[in-house]
Amino acid sequence: MIWFTEYWTDNVGLTVKADEVKKIRSKYQEILVLDTPEFGKMLVLDGLVQTTEKDEFIYHEMLAHPAMIMHPEPERVLVIGGGDGGTVREVLKHKSVKEVHLCEIDEEVVIVSEKYFPSISEKLRDPKVKVFIEDGNSFLEERKDYYDVIIMDSSDPVGASEVLFKKEFYEKVKSSLRKNGIMVAQTESPVLQEKYFSKAFSEIRKVFKNVGVYLAFIPTYPSGMWSFTIASDFVDIKDISINRERVKELKTKYFCDSIYACLFALPRFVQEILKKS
Ligand code: SAM
Repeated sequence: MIWFTEYWTDNVGLTVKADEVKKIRSKYQEILVLDTPEFGKMLVLDGLVQTTEKDEFIYHEMLAHPAMIMHPEPERVLVIGGGDGGTVREVLKHKSVKEVHLCEIDEEVVIVSEKYFPSISEKLRDPKVKVFIEDGNSFLEERKDYYDVIIMDSSDPVGASEVLFKKEFYEKVKSSLRKNGIMVAQTESPVLQEKYFSKAFSEIRKVFKNVGVYLAFIPTYPSGMWSFTIASDFVDIKDISINRERVKELKTKYFCDSIYACLFALPRFVQEILKKS
């Protein structure tokens, strides 16, 4: 057993007891698989925890379902990043879905996830799913006015992901959405990554008319408090009465009617950050 630490800042981090299962260096990053007594297997990219068997459901359900519920009838869905497959699994819980495209830049992440995280990657071979090993930024250039929901399941805004948090990229997302289209992105921690969070929100707000922020509590992510930013030019995303009856049909462990009912209830300090952004 080793002690693995992810440094959230220079002064604080997450330390877990672990067995190292696999470590490889891909074209883009170091990929590490740990087996931990507390969180099960853990996927770590360049020293940063991406997903764990114990708490991944919180992140993947909260990233996928609000946008999928708010869209009148989502048929074509794009996930950018998300090579572990967890977001794809949640998207396929919606009956209207006909086609899911996963655009992941690093093929090794998909291979490692299929081998070591079967409960997360289980739907990557579903007949409705097509996997593209490509940079999300260039992938969108070829697809205009095509998707109903685009989900940004990227890593932190460093390295290959940095471009995915810029206004220019969100403009490409907008032109790849068709009528009633909705985008949602993971936008970091308001507590320990305020700059990333505030910047991502302000970049998205420059591009879309209706923008909202909601939170979820993910134990293995920096500070545990994580944010998501959802946006659309058509759908009034703040109206949580939309399609509420569809929430009850979903087989989920975190996302549910009571979470949906107060999705945009934010603590005052987060509201203050958004006002200043
Ligand atoms: N939940 C995680 C988080 O919040 O940190 C994200 C998980 S997912 C594994 C992130 C994925 O985004 C990684 O597999 C990474 O390779 C991929 N990625 C990073 N930059 C990308 C890009 N420009 N285009 C497509 N995928 C990218």
